[in-house]
Amino acid sequence: MAHILAIANQKGGVGKTTTAINLACALAQTGRRVLLVDCDPQGNASSGLGLRISEPDKTLHRVLLEENGAPPLHRPLDELSLWMIPANPSLAATEWKLTATPGSETVLASRLKPLDERFHFMILDCPPSLGLLTVNTLCAAHSVLIPLQCEYFAMEGLSLLLDTIRKIKLRWNPSLAIRGILLTMFDRRNNLSHQVATEIRKHLGARVFETLIPRNVRLSESPSHGLPVMLYDRHCAGSRAYAALAHEILQKGADRA
Ligand code: ADP
Ligand code: MG
Repeated sequence: MAHILAIANQKGGVGKTTTAINLACALAQTGRRVLLVDCDPQGNASSGLGLRISEPDKTLHRVLLEENGAPPLHRPLDELSLWMIPANPSLAATEWKLTATPGSETVLASRLKPLDERFHFMILDCPPSLGLLTVNTLCAAHSVLIPLQCEYFAMEGLSLLLDTIRKIKLRWNPSLAIRGILLTMFDRRNNLSHQVATEIRKHLGARVFETLIPRNVRLSESPSHGLPVMLYDRHCAGSRAYAALAHEILQKGADRA
């Protein structure tokens, strides 16, 4: 059975997509079969792995709005056991149409079910909002990973996200767990980064992953080459950090396979 992990935070630019791509690929590098689902109309996870798909029929659109037929699985990289359901800007209209569907919150959960046996992990990259697409990912997921950027105001908005998670647990998905808070864009030469990381650990304690994701230029360069960081520069700090995160997640038992 696949473990479904949503990468969520309604703030933009905190490292959700970078984490979704590189964690999915780091898990695939350990030999797990991983499905990455791009749930953001911006389609950054798709283009970051070289998939620019214009036909809605070959994207998440089809999964959400067409009950029948096989989901459009792409294989962006030959080297890795990674599959992907991509997105493109038409997903914004899909979200709007989805609101008219009865049980619109749990459509993604039911459409991913038939894929359950084929993968060890499904990683869902969320848009920067708490709208229906994010609600769908939280209804489908076993757990949530919340990236927080090591900047002032990092925790701003976190209580709203935690409150949304609580409501989703009550209404649709009682076993939804918070897999962890991930500190991203940590700059060890910057005092503020250290202060913010200490403060977040003080407030959120054991929920915070031990792995810190450093600010690393390779992480920001690799999507423009359509590659995860470990295939772009396997020795850089970003590659090592996402490998460590995958290891920490496997050790903490998210691997249900
Ligand atoms: P989100 O999906 O939350 O909007 P992204 O993952 O797209 O955030 O990251 C926002 C920007 O920051 C992107 O340009 C990305 O390349 C860059 N970025 C993300 N994480 C890092 C990092 N650890 N080091 C350097 N740049 C990063
Ligand atoms: Mg994103």
